[in-house]
Amino acid sequence: MALRSVNPASGELLREYREASESELRNVLLESSCAFAGWRTTPFAVRAEKMRAAADRLDARKDELARLMALEMGKPLLPGRAEIEKCAGTCRFYADNAERFLADEAVETEASKSFVAYNPLGPVLAVMPWNFPFWQVFRFAAPALMAGNVGILKHASNVSGCALAIEDVFREAGFPEPAFRAVLVGSDRVASIIEAPAVKAVTLTGSTPAGQSVAARAGAVLKKTVLELGGSDPYVVLEDADLELAAETCATSRLINSGQSCIAAKRFIVLEPVRRRFEELFVEKMRARKMGDPLEPGVDLGPLARRDLRDSVHEQVERSVRGGARVLLGGKPADGKGAFYPATVLTDVRKGMAAFDEEVFGPVAAVVPARDEDEAIRLANDSPFGLGAAVFTRDVARGERIAARSLEAGNCFVNAFVRSDPRLPFGGVKESGYGRELSHFGIREFVNVKTVYVK
Ligand code: NAP
Repeated sequence: MALRSVNPASGELLREYREASESELRNVLLESSCAFAGWRTTPFAVRAEKMRAAADRLDARKDELARLMALEMGKPLLPGRAEIEKCAGTCRFYADNAERFLADEAVETEASKSFVAYNPLGPVLAVMPWNFPFWQVFRFAAPALMAGNVGILKHASNVSGCALAIEDVFREAGFPEPAFRAVLVGSDRVASIIEAPAVKAVTLTGSTPAGQSVAARAGAVLKKTVLELGGSDPYVVLEDADLELAAETCATSRLINSGQSCIAAKRFIVLEPVRRRFEELFVEKMRARKMGDPLEPGVDLGPLARRDLRDSVHEQVERSVRGGARVLLGGKPADGKGAFYPATVLTDVRKGMAAFDEEVFGPVAAVVPARDEDEAIRLANDSPFGLGAAVFTRDVARGERIAARSLEAGNCFVNAFVRSDPRLPFGGVKESGYGRELSHFGIREFVNVKTVYVK
């Protein structure tokens, strides 16, 4: 079967990619194992030099790669360029810090010497989503390769061009060729790759059902997994919030990547005394974002990545409205062949409605009323997900207490929108997954944490 790249702005078929055959796949697995034997003993300094070269290649190809993302999944050019810059920065971060993160750690015992050493595991399979087609892959690959592992990428089926471009970047940077390979296969082939003896661990970034399926398969053959899954991030707006800042930040977060981000704000839990004013400001900010062709300058909102995804977002809006939500802005798909959906604000959203209970992966904001701080926190946590969360208040100590102690999420921000940063760990709890990426936590996920005891 072929994998199809379709321009979501026009519906036009860009290219069909032939799926890898079984024997091609077997070759990749074999070559990856062979590459690991050499790469694991390559000194950190040499790995770092190649990782910096990968960052340089990303910088040099930034415009071309941003255009590729715009065509394959509809990301406007400006955020596309920023995504490539972030990948390059993360390659440099791990080039600079990996050796320190994985240095032996002495532990005092009765032995003459005892310490912890970190050894790489081998080929790691990365199953990745289309929404940040470069960032999701690089935030796995930069630490994994710096740790001495090798990578096998199964990218989302609609971004095969991006998958091959990433493989190319590592090749141009001088990595031994099979140290990072992209395999063009559909999701039905993932189980057999997980089971292959060559593969030592698996990471998946994607939806919760995909994570459940990969974790079940990996569990059956006892392979380590890291899962970065969906979210329905709550942003709590307290009665003492700076409403101008809250509305602007909430709109920016909700519309990141045209609303298709795991850590885009999705539920806005607003205390009753400020609800009406917040809604006015928020609708104004959401309306101000320009929707259009992602290749045009000045466009904030591109199309959604696929037409079927756009239709399922609209179906969630319709179900929420049938359940009693009110539409303050948008709420209807745009005409034409593209997968466009306008910035949409729903209010009076409550538990039991799709916009509260499910992840809505598009530019749809759900305003949820709350009486007081306690109820707001209860509603924020009343979700199967636990990826990101934010709180808005002028009382910074109050915000810090809620973020640090009360919100059930992996990433909690005060007066700012949730974002990933290579210096800080990133990941979720509950159905948003487990394990961490980025920082020293991320590079230690795919290593053998080895105790060495010398009598
Ligand atoms: P998706 O449909 O789950 O696909 C993600 C990847 O998993 C793709 O490569 C897909 O391959 C593969 N896949 C799907 N079902 C599978 C299965 N049953 N077994 C094995 N592999 C499977 O997700 P998406 O639509 O690409 O991305 C959106 C989702 O990703 C959202 O839920 C979002 O919240 C989540 N996400 C999470 C994070 C995070 O850091 N927590 C970051 C970004 C995105 P095919 O394309 O071939 O189906």
